[in-house]
Amino acid sequence: MLVFDKTELNLISYFAAYPRGGEKPSSSCLEAHPFDRPQRPFPFHEAILSSAPLEGVVRARTFLRQDGLCRAILLEYSNGARRAIGDCRVGIDPVEIWNMPKHVCIFKTTTIDDLVHRGAILQVAKVRFSEREHQHTESGWTCHAMGGTFEFWFSHNQSCITILS
Ligand SMILES: [Zn+2]
Repeated sequence: MLVFDKTELNLISYFAAYPRGGEKPSSSCLEAHPFDRPQRPFPFHEAILSSAPLEGVVRARTFLRQDGLCRAILLEYSNGARRAIGDCRVGIDPVEIWNMPKHVCIFKTTTIDDLVHRGAILQVAKVRFSEREHQHTESGWTCHAMGGTFEFWFSHNQSCITILS
């Protein structure tokens, strides 16, 4: 059964599909397949894992928190694909755009939670991209060539980044 509402005055229409009764699914595509659970320990409570390949990236957009730390990244690839990692708040957070990156630079640090769990130490990071060899004036940055997999663990106020080769 297919249910569809197309009332012009409604701001949001609804759409639903419902299997006919009495029929048993014959295809294994209807079976539930949960996502693989990461075998590594979660870096912090309520961490959500997102990941994306770094090879073939032609543009990166970093979404920044008010304190300049990285909230999310939108990666665009040479084949036109896009992959969002982290909590991308398009149109809300300020964005830095990096074209034709050859390196991704990560600065892992901590901050103190002064809102929810006062005094708790939170994991956070700054992320930049670069199109050429470079040096950082500030110590603590690690530079990676654009290859491997970018893993971005995140919650509403924390992030933990790992590059898997
Ligand atoms: Zn760097």
